[in-house]
Amino acid sequence: MAIRRNPFISSLSPLRLLSNSCPDPQTSRAFARHFLSSPNPRAQIPFLRSILRNSRVSRAFASSSETGGGGGASACWNCGAAADSPGIFLVCGSCRSVQPVDHSVDYFKIFGLERVYDIKDDNLEGKYKDWQKKLHPDLVHTKSEKEKSFAGEQSSRVTDAYRTLGRPLSRALYLLQLEGVHIDEEKTLTDMDLLAEMMDIREAVEEASDSQALKQIESKIRMKLEASSEFFREAFKKRDYDAAIASTERMRYYERAIEEIVKKT
Ligand SMILES: [Zn+2]
Repeated sequence: MAIRRNPFISSLSPLRLLSNSCPDPQTSRAFARHFLSSPNPRAQIPFLRSILRNSRVSRAFASSSETGGGGGASACWNCGAAADSPGIFLVCGSCRSVQPVDHSVDYFKIFGLERVYDIKDDNLEGKYKDWQKKLHPDLVHTKSEKEKSFAGEQSSRVTDAYRTLGRPLSRALYLLQLEGVHIDEEKTLTDMDLLAEMMDIREAVEEASDSQALKQIESKIRMKLEASSEFFREAFKKRDYDAAIASTERMRYYERAIEEIVKKT
């Protein structure tokens, strides 16, 4: 006998995935009941979907292949001279040709940073701006097409590096990636405490009467985000990668909830 599917539930794939992956069917049924009994469940779909969706690892580094180490000896493609300093090899000191991207130089090395989570006092923005000055198209416009394209690739890699390291979550994920830690991008949320927390946040946002109230919720979530960030730092230092991954999961949901609140204010 054909079971008539509830179009509302089937449209909410994160919920369905959650029910499938939840170890305790009663919990997931209770969750679904709670959700569906809300006066206007459909209106909550975008918010819930956005916070329940497991984001893909930032495209900024999804295509990069470096897995640590690296920064090996680079030599000029044109004259064979060696790079005179470690890190990104931009222009040959000997023949002045623009060099291609060296993928063994990781994002931290691009900015001359130690490979650690805590980089907030390291003037990342200033270093990024310095790079973009060096890579400005005006400086390479007399060069060959090949070198112009190298400069363009260098520039977009520096931008990727800046974006990745500039945000705590993407920096944390990148560090794990460099350590060779696999993060399952398709994994659905199994942390029931976090799920309950997100439901509470959702309710509070729904009930918030003005932007002042939303701001208060936002600042509470920012404190949670900060705590998860601290937790990641410690877990990563101790190479407790399971705990580190769990922290990134929390950070991801908090960041997304903040984004949603910012959109509303
Ligand atoms: Zn050269």
